[in-house]
Amino acid sequence: MISAEDAMKKPVPAPDADSAALWRGLRDGVLLLQHCGDCHHVQYYQQGMCRQCSSENLSHKVASGRGRVHSFSVVHRAPGPAFKADVPYAVLLVDLEEGPRMISTYVGGKPEDVAFDMDVMLVCEQIDDRTTLPRFRRA
Ligand SMILES: [Zn+2]
Repeated sequence: MISAEDAMKKPVPAPDADSAALWRGLRDGVLLLQHCGDCHHVQYYQQGMCRQCSSENLSHKVASGRGRVHSFSVVHRAPGPAFKADVPYAVLLVDLEEGPRMISTYVGGKPEDVAFDMDVMLVCEQIDDRTTLPRFRRA
């Protein structure tokens, strides 16, 4: 049972061993992607091995922050009380320049300004002392 107080708080990501570097990078204002040293696959969701070839020869590299809107949808009805002040907002499916696709939200403009194939740029938005989230604005 979720308390009324908890319902007013937005869920924040809980970093684990695989994703700790990602969250640390965002706090420093950069998006880190995992690059496979064997097959050159690039992945956003951090894990201990390459999803393409299962190699553990992975290294973090700073992403350019550039991407393109593959798809989006505008949220008009808040998923919970904590999001009431945010609606309407646009949820984006962004194709990063390096290849991976990620889900994020649009900032710095109205959701109706978002269009398919729009160029976007990463924004690191600090939520609290521990958490910074990746968002995108129009490039
Ligand atoms: Zn690989």
